[in-house]
Amino acid sequence: MGTVTTQDIQPLDIAENPIIIAGPCSAETEQQTLETAKALSAMGVTIFRAGIWKPRTMPGGFEGVGDIGLEWLQRVKRETGMLIATEVATVEHINAALAAGIDILWIGARTTANPFAMQDIADALHGHDAVTILVKNPVNPDLDLWIGAIQRILNAGVSRVGAVHRGFSAAGEHLYRNDPQWHIPFDLRRLESHMTILCDPSHIGGKRDLVYPLAQQALDMGFDGLMIESHCDPDHALSDSAQQITPEDLKSVLDRLIIRSGVPVEDELALLRQQIDDCDHELLAVLARRMSVSREIGQYKKTHNLRVVQPHRYQDVLKNRLAEGERLSLDPAFVKLVMQAIHEESVRQQIGF
Ligand code: PEP
Ligand code: MN
Repeated sequence: MGTVTTQDIQPLDIAENPIIIAGPCSAETEQQTLETAKALSAMGVTIFRAGIWKPRTMPGGFEGVGDIGLEWLQRVKRETGMLIATEVATVEHINAALAAGIDILWIGARTTANPFAMQDIADALHGHDAVTILVKNPVNPDLDLWIGAIQRILNAGVSRVGAVHRGFSAAGEHLYRNDPQWHIPFDLRRLESHMTILCDPSHIGGKRDLVYPLAQQALDMGFDGLMIESHCDPDHALSDSAQQITPEDLKSVLDRLIIRSGVPVEDELALLRQQIDDCDHELLAVLARRMSVSREIGQYKKTHNLRVVQPHRYQDVLKNRLAEGERLSLDPAFVKLVMQAIHEESVRQQIGF
């Protein structure tokens, strides 16, 4: 596993604990940007985020207002005194954002995953060591890719670099839009104890109701702060509508957050429990996939007038799984119990057709 080799990494120059960055997923109009920023500023938020170049997974989504948004962000800075953060993905974005005096640039998950893009970004940042860079985790759960992206920025001479945990893409239906896999940011913290690591509960949860519990969980786990999406009219937001909350709701989230001091950042028990949670999460996803295949088999058997239970097949499966379990040092009695339960449910699912 890689680690950041530079000794120069600095905690972010932001005296807040926890650091709170809030603002809309996207700046959509000058009015929406200003209205949101002013409401956030009035409740004490000092760092404003808004995307103006939006990487959308599918073409046809709202791709941001582009360079004109820089003027709106400058206006926010002038009129509220907030620090301004926006996402950059190309050399053109960086040059435009730096020329506009944007304080904090963040690298989005899709960009962090691409070392060519990261190197271009790092090259464009050479000589701009006053800017703060936040590197979101890559879309895929690969700690080395995340560390590699951070290292490229540090190699360019930028020392104010932080990380943002926003979860990892996963196929299928899940509670979270982006699977948190907390052990990955934990490992980053273990390796880079001085780095500022924030959590983005909006993109992890993907739903308004999940913002508060995820934010509290992140603080309890020792994250240094939060990046939360807030929009003055979330229902009509042009991107990430389901996860954005009004400034008023954000205030209620922040007011409810309990800041516990002295929670050990590397709490071994929390780390182990999180691994158990992650394993269970995977187990359930695999079980759901297996039952869906079972239903397809059930349909096939029905169409071809075959019996649902074919004892030879079950005996073969059991023998094979017991042998495999033994190779993995699992107790045979336990494997048998689990396989029987799975088989029973599988038959029930097949009969359902
Ligand atoms: C965002 O912050 O709006 C965004 C696009 O984030 P991510 O790169 O985490 O998807
Ligand atoms: Mn977003």
